[in-house]
Amino acid sequence: MAIDYRKPGRPPAAGGRLVPCLQATSSGVAYGALTFRVGTADETVPTRGVTHLVEHLVMRRAHAVDLRCNASVGLVHTTFWAVGDEADVEGFLRRVEEALRDLPVQHLDSERALIAVEEEHHPVTVPSPVQHFGAQRYGVVAFEQQLDHLGPDLLRSWVRERFTAGNAVQTLVGVDRGRAAVRLPDGRFHPEPSVPAATGARLHVDPGERTVSLTALLPAGWAVPVLAAVLDRAVANRLRHREHLAYGAGAGHLRITLDTSMLTITSDCVPGREADLVTALLDELRRLEADLDEETVLRAVGRVVDQAEEDAGSTGLTEEAWRLLHGRDVPASVTTLQRDLDALTTQDLRRLLRTVLDTAVLRTPVPVPAPAGFHLDTPAAVEPWPGREFTAADGRRATVSARGLQVGDVQVTWSSLVAAYVSGDRWSLVSRRGLRLDLRPGEFGAEFLAELRDRVPTSVRIDRVRTENEEAT
Ligand SMILES: [Zn+2]
Repeated sequence: MAIDYRKPGRPPAAGGRLVPCLQATSSGVAYGALTFRVGTADETVPTRGVTHLVEHLVMRRAHAVDLRCNASVGLVHTTFWAVGDEADVEGFLRRVEEALRDLPVQHLDSERALIAVEEEHHPVTVPSPVQHFGAQRYGVVAFEQQLDHLGPDLLRSWVRERFTAGNAVQTLVGVDRGRAAVRLPDGRFHPEPSVPAATGARLHVDPGERTVSLTALLPAGWAVPVLAAVLDRAVANRLRHREHLAYGAGAGHLRITLDTSMLTITSDCVPGREADLVTALLDELRRLEADLDEETVLRAVGRVVDQAEEDAGSTGLTEEAWRLLHGRDVPASVTTLQRDLDALTTQDLRRLLRTVLDTAVLRTPVPVPAPAGFHLDTPAAVEPWPGREFTAADGRRATVSARGLQVGDVQVTWSSLVAAYVSGDRWSLVSRRGLRLDLRPGEFGAEFLAELRDRVPTSVRIDRVRTENEEAT
């Protein structure tokens, strides 16, 4: 498929700027998509869900019966797409454009209700991003959407900032650009939030989890799905069939940014055998690093090619659009899959396995002895902060200091707070690292509550009751 990429033309006298466009010919159905460089990783815990609400409101206007169309919000992208005949695709893109220029916020309440239902049926399944990112950027996706907290003004300003011509790319297959071009208000391009280096702690115990998981951040490329395909077979074979420690064990991968992917291994576990499972899993990774053979790699490549061919219809030119959006070179034709897979060696995969062993983060539902190189993510001893002390009726102590709040052994600095949920007399404070401190301030007295109200920044406060001025008009 040849791509004819043209730079956006000069801005028209009125009506905004043309969105950069990737264009391809098609002998079959037409396809049109509009992608923006905005997603969950751009949100904060208090604004979690804002992109999704915009997406729903736009689709409310753009959707048409009898047209195959949809939209999705990912970690760093939001895409609206349609497949059909040329006129249908054109009409769809026109309606998306109109809805972005004048967001139909009158439907806010009904879309909030729909998203709440959707969330119940499709809970977030991104594997444990909090252990890498805490409660910010790529970790925000693990938090609940603040649907009631997000009002029309916030949604409109999010659209003005992110859904602009400068932050978008358009893909047209079998559609005449002269008629289907999208114009939007101008705005700047927002690069993907940076992926921070892993912190020291590489072992997390989370009683809320049901599985043991291992995640690693790797350079994006076809080596990652191939390695995931190798590991998917290897860990199932080792943990389930040979050592009888797990029923469901496997590996997968998730593209985080244009340059970074996350490799994930997850496994359930026979209760009480978690430590054995962690030992066996790491041993299997080391064995593969030493012994990985060409035949295993070729079989994995075959499975990746099959999957890519299956996905091709639904993803269209996404990878190229992604590159264009970032101002990177776009290949003249779509042949990168075969070229990259041909260039891939067993040695490349062994090197990736070394990176996994050196940098991966482990999460277990129960405490296990820390394997060599992995440190548990709990502070050994807490140095008390001097400050004003409060005592609850049951003897628990809380200290409010200039630096932060200490309750028992848990310390949270004011500057690290990314969210403070307030629901009746319960407060839940979330730190940038993802640490959560639940308390009822009233138990420490009225003056303690007053201190908390004073010191917790209003920008992170999420009250469970919707305020009047946030209501849709
Ligand atoms: Zn949705």
